[in-house]
Amino acid sequence: MREFGYQRAHDVPGAVALLGDDPDARFLGGGTNLVDLMKTGVERPALLVDVRELPLDRIEPAEGGGLRIGATATNSDLAAHPEVRRRYPMLTQAVLAGASGQLRNMATVGGNLLQRTRCGYFADVTQPCNKRAPGTGCPAIEGEHHNHAILGASEACVATHPSDTAVALAALDAVVSYETADGPGELPLTQFYLPVGDTPNLETALPAGALITGVTLPPTPVAARSRYRKVRERASYAFAIGSLAAALDVHEGAVREVRLAFGGVASRPWRARTAERLLTGAPADAETFAAAADAELAAAEPLPHNRYKVTLMRNLVVAVLTELAGEADAR
Ligand SMILES: Cc1cc2nc3c(=O)[nH]c(=O)nc-3n(C[C@H](O)[C@H](O)[C@H](O)COP(=O)(O)OP(=O)(O)OC[C@H]3O[C@@H](n4cnc5c(N)ncnc54)[C@H](O)[C@@H]3O)c2cc1C
Ligand code: SF4
Repeated sequence: MREFGYQRAHDVPGAVALLGDDPDARFLGGGTNLVDLMKTGVERPALLVDVRELPLDRIEPAEGGGLRIGATATNSDLAAHPEVRRRYPMLTQAVLAGASGQLRNMATVGGNLLQRTRCGYFADVTQPCNKRAPGTGCPAIEGEHHNHAILGASEACVATHPSDTAVALAALDAVVSYETADGPGELPLTQFYLPVGDTPNLETALPAGALITGVTLPPTPVAARSRYRKVRERASYAFAIGSLAAALDVHEGAVREVRLAFGGVASRPWRARTAERLLTGAPADAETFAAAADAELAAAEPLPHNRYKVTLMRNLVVAVLTELAGEADAR
């Protein structure tokens, strides 16, 4: 590991000033992703600015009736918060579906949003990879891609985004707040991650040097009946091969409101707006759920070894929405 500087920030302006406009400096959250990448040489920062002592770890009511989650709240605190569990169960389930108890105790909300892809070529500095070393190529397209993207990928990169939390946040219309030397800003989660295009190395719309300060959830009553379902290759401690964040409100047998976001299948959390549009006002039955999933997945461009994800996501949509509709009937 090469030498690096370490500074602990105590307030938000101080953190932003310490990082400055140095492209080789990084904020350090729990370090559960960044430090791993430093050990393998994927990340080679000259300076780490530790943000864990910033006063950003609270989860509290937001103006307008939503919830404000501080960027340095741990994943464990987020999952356990009574208001998150009661009002946004899909978010608690998404956080708990990720990593392990020890990792969730360390990992922060801000760091979770900015964790890097788990593509094996990206993690191996002896391999070409357009995301890590722009212009070197994408060996995954002709090589190992059974767990790569079927939606929103490009000829430059077919990696998936690994976060479970971000999938639930996309379905919930969460808004990310940040601070820069020029002042604060906000980005809806659905616009936070950039389309992959020709520049897979550019992952988010955050301005350079921005410190994520928090995430705000709107009130979203439909989220009270919601679910996060993750499919993975072993029962725990594994990233998604496909996941679904879903919320459903049914009235007199028809869908009154629905939220759907896919994880593990796209370069970013994939808000399934085509399916949502088709479902709204339609009968809440398995046939309609399947037709909506098919319409969303019509945009899929699978590679030879990840075609199974199209069927997997269709089945997930039908199974989870059928469960949620059944719970609505049982009320
Ligand atoms: C074995 C293992 C399994 C895992 N499984 C899953 C899983 O199944 N699902 C899942 O979702 N996650 C999983 N994770 C990922 C884990 O959730 C992330 O490592 C973690 O959320 C990152 O948070 P952190 O605070 O440790 O970030 P760090 O590692 O500290 O930082 C990650 C990135 O975010 C930046 N950053 C951190 N905080 C801020 C901030 N406030 N503002 C701006 N930039 C910031 C850093 O500079 C860095 O670029 C797994 C991790 C491991 C090691
Ligand atoms: S899929 Fe993306 S991250 Fe993986 S090798 Fe290709 S360019 Fe790199």
